[in-house]
Amino acid sequence: MELLKKLEILADAAKYDASCSSSGTTRRSSVGGRGMGSSEGSGICHAYAPDGRCISLLKILLTNFCIYECSYCINRNSSNVQRARFTTKEVVDLTLDFYKRNYIEGLFLSSGVIQSPDYTMAQLVEVARSLRVDHDFRGYIHLKTIPDAGGQLLADAGRFADRLSINIELPTQVALADLAPEKDHRTIKLSMARIRAGRDEVAEQRRQAKRITNASPRRAAAPRFAPAGQSTQMIIGAEPSTDALEQLSLRAAMCCGCPLYGPATQTVFGEGPQKARLMLVGEQPGDAEDLAGRPFVGPAGQLLDRALNAAGLDRSQLYLTNAVKHFKFEPRGKQRLHAKLDYHEVAACRPWLDAEIMRVAPDVVMALGGTAASALLERRVAVTRERGRAIAWKGRQLWVTVHPSFLLRSDATAGQSFDRFVADLRIAAAI
Ligand code: SF4
Ligand code: SF4
Repeated sequence: MELLKKLEILADAAKYDASCSSSGTTRRSSVGGRGMGSSEGSGICHAYAPDGRCISLLKILLTNFCIYECSYCINRNSSNVQRARFTTKEVVDLTLDFYKRNYIEGLFLSSGVIQSPDYTMAQLVEVARSLRVDHDFRGYIHLKTIPDAGGQLLADAGRFADRLSINIELPTQVALADLAPEKDHRTIKLSMARIRAGRDEVAEQRRQAKRITNASPRRAAAPRFAPAGQSTQMIIGAEPSTDALEQLSLRAAMCCGCPLYGPATQTVFGEGPQKARLMLVGEQPGDAEDLAGRPFVGPAGQLLDRALNAAGLDRSQLYLTNAVKHFKFEPRGKQRLHAKLDYHEVAACRPWLDAEIMRVAPDVVMALGGTAASALLERRVAVTRERGRAIAWKGRQLWVTVHPSFLLRSDATAGQSFDRFVADLRIAAAI
C-alpha cells in the first residue's frame, strides 16, 4: 500500500484519540546547530481541526489492526474498516519530513494492539527512541500507552516521550468487562501508577543531582521522564445506564480546573448511593486513595470504617467524598507526603462538591475537619468552636467534626478522641 494511502487511513483512525492536554514540557532548543527541532516558546498548540486532530501534531496510529474487541471502537477486531500499518521507520520519516516542512511541532502516536500489548508498545517506543536518539529530534512526542504493557517498556517510553497517556476507557470494571473484555481496570490503574512512579523517581533524582552539583534542577544532570505528564481519556455514554452521579464523576475525571490534576494519578470522586441521607465530606484523597481511585480507603479510611461500625452506621448507605478531588503531595524519596491545600484549589474544586450535594440531596452533611468545613461554609472554621452543634445550612443540617487522620495522629487521648468521634457520627445519623 502506498504511504499516502496509509497516512489517510491511519490519521483518520486516530481522530478519536484525545491528544491535547494543557501541558508544559522541558525546553529543548536546536540553536547553534544542535540537533533538529525545538519545543521552546510557543509550546503545544491547543487548536483542534474540525475532524478532531490537534493541528500542530502529526496525529496517527501506527496501525488500526487490532486483536481486541472493544465494542465502542471503530478499530475493533471484527470491524469492517480498511486497515493499514506503518513500519516504525515510516512514522519516523513522516514526522521528520512534516517537521522540516513546518507542518507540525510534534508527533502524537497511538496504535491498535497487534500480536501482544508488549510487542505493540515496543514498536511505539522504537519510534520515539529513533526520533530522539538517531535523529536528535527535539520536538514534542506524545505516546498513547498500551494497556497491560510491561513496566520496562513504560519506563523506556517515559525516557523518550514528553507526554504519556492511557485510556481509563470506562468508569466501572463491570462496564469494562462488558464492552472491552480484554481490558482490566486493575492493570490500567497499575500502568497509571507506574507512570506516576517514574515521574516521582526522576524528580527525586533531579533534586539529588541538584544537591550534589549545586546546579538548578533544570541544569542538573539527571534523566527525564515524560516531563509534560500523563493524561487520560474516558469514553462517556457507552454504557446503557449511567446515572447522574456517574455522569458527574466522568466529567470530573477530565477536570483540569487547578494544577493538582497534573502530578496526581487520577480523580478521586465521591461514592455512595444517589439518595444517601448522610454525606461525609473529607479534605482530599491521600496516597492510597489516589492509587485506588476511591475515597477513604487508606489508614484514615480504615479508622473511619471502625468508627462507623461503632456508631452502628452502614458505610454502603452513606455518601463519602472530599472537598478536593485530587491528591496534593510533596515527593520525599519514594514517599508522597500529604501537602496542605490552598484557598484557590479548594475554590476551584467547589463546583464538583456542590454538584454532588445537589444530586445526592442529603438531609445531613458532616464535615470531617476544618478544610472540609471551610469549603462548605465558605468561611474560616475552627473545628473546636463549631463541633457538637447543628448548623442550619442550605435547607439541611451541617455538622462539623474532626478528620479521622487527626485521630491517627492523636497520642494519649486517642481512646477518648475516638469515642467522641463515634458520638458525633451517632448524633448525625440519628437526625
Ligand atoms: S484496544 Fe484500542 S484500538 Fe483495539 S479495539 Fe480496543 S480501543 Fe480499539
Ligand atoms: S482538584 Fe478539583 S478542580 Fe483541581 S483538577 Fe482536580 S477535580 Fe479539578
